[in-house]
Amino acid sequence: MGGTPSKDGSRDSFETLSIFKEKATIDDFEILKYIGKGHFGKVYQVRHKTTSKIYAMKTLKKSQIQKNNQIRNTKNERNVLAKSSHRFIVKLYYAFKTEKKLYLVMDYVSGGELFTHLKSRGPFPESWVRFYAAEILCALNYLHMKNIVYRDLKPENILVQSSGHIKLSDFGLSKSNIEQSNCETVCGTPAYLSPEMLKCEAYGTSVDIWALGILLFELAAGTTPFYHKNRIAMSKRIINTEIVYPSDFSYEFKSLLEGLLRKEPKERLSANEVKRHPFFESIDWEKVEQGLLSPPFIPVTFGDADTSNFREMEIECSPNSPQELLEEPCRSESYSGFSFAEESNNMNINELK
Ligand code: ATP
Ligand code: MG
Repeated sequence: MGGTPSKDGSRDSFETLSIFKEKATIDDFEILKYIGKGHFGKVYQVRHKTTSKIYAMKTLKKSQIQKNNQIRNTKNERNVLAKSSHRFIVKLYYAFKTEKKLYLVMDYVSGGELFTHLKSRGPFPESWVRFYAAEILCALNYLHMKNIVYRDLKPENILVQSSGHIKLSDFGLSKSNIEQSNCETVCGTPAYLSPEMLKCEAYGTSVDIWALGILLFELAAGTTPFYHKNRIAMSKRIINTEIVYPSDFSYEFKSLLEGLLRKEPKERLSANEVKRHPFFESIDWEKVEQGLLSPPFIPVTFGDADTSNFREMEIECSPNSPQELLEEPCRSESYSGFSFAEESNNMNINELK
């Protein structure tokens, strides 16, 4: 990968991205709807004024990012998305900045969060869980092959396309340089944190395998296995308590979860070993990779621009006159190299100064 360390200590890999196409600005987009709230900003559905294509635009407030020491995470998100091209991972088309904000323009995924469907449809049958497990595993395997740890697997970050297939989103916490080992890097959602992360030990791709185990348990049971309303009590359970599996889990499913949720990371299955587990005996992995597995349900969408699968968000500024989105570009050093535009052939991406 290469890359030179940047001012905030992260390694910049922008120089590996090639051939510049065009520079985007906020003026190129019409804001259609406010669809999601992120930790450091908002997500809007937007339309590119020239091509009429619909995208999701994530805005991040620089002040919030700086206050929370998240510069590196933000650059990670941009880098991981820029480096990824996989049918089950949201694709980044543009990244740019204004004086106060950073913007990521990516695929708009119209079927909403898997979380919403889990809540409305109740726990999923194992055949459904197998489908989501298979597609998520392909995405994780792809990231792990690139030495990227995703670190934030949970039903809120898995989006459902209008076709019913999934896309992983939200790469704010993902990490390219793996084998992290200090407590400053404990991040993610409490119920999904692995024992080694909680104990501030070195960790790598096996934290995603752990989170996959928690996710599959939640999809099948409707709740996470170590859940406790008190965060500290939940952390203690994650580290010390053995899971009691619901009696209606099949033998193969339980055996898979045991392999994913071993407290000792070295004993956990790898993404490739997971694929060979008997729970996936009926799965043709070539077909999964090609998006040929039949989704268990097709979300109700009225075209790819539909937003009915997203909660109604409180709008603090009118989307028709998004004053807060219209700002002059600046040359802030710490975010230099943030911008890029994507070439139409997918792979040729270049940073803009
Ligand atoms: P971060 O962890 O970086 O603070 P976040 O988890 O707060 O981010 P995201 O998960 O990226 O923010 O986005 C918030 C919500 O916006 C998502 O849960 C989802 O509902 C919606 N959203 C994000 N990206 C897309 C997308 N590409 N298409 C459709 N909706 C999206
Ligand atoms: Mg999220």
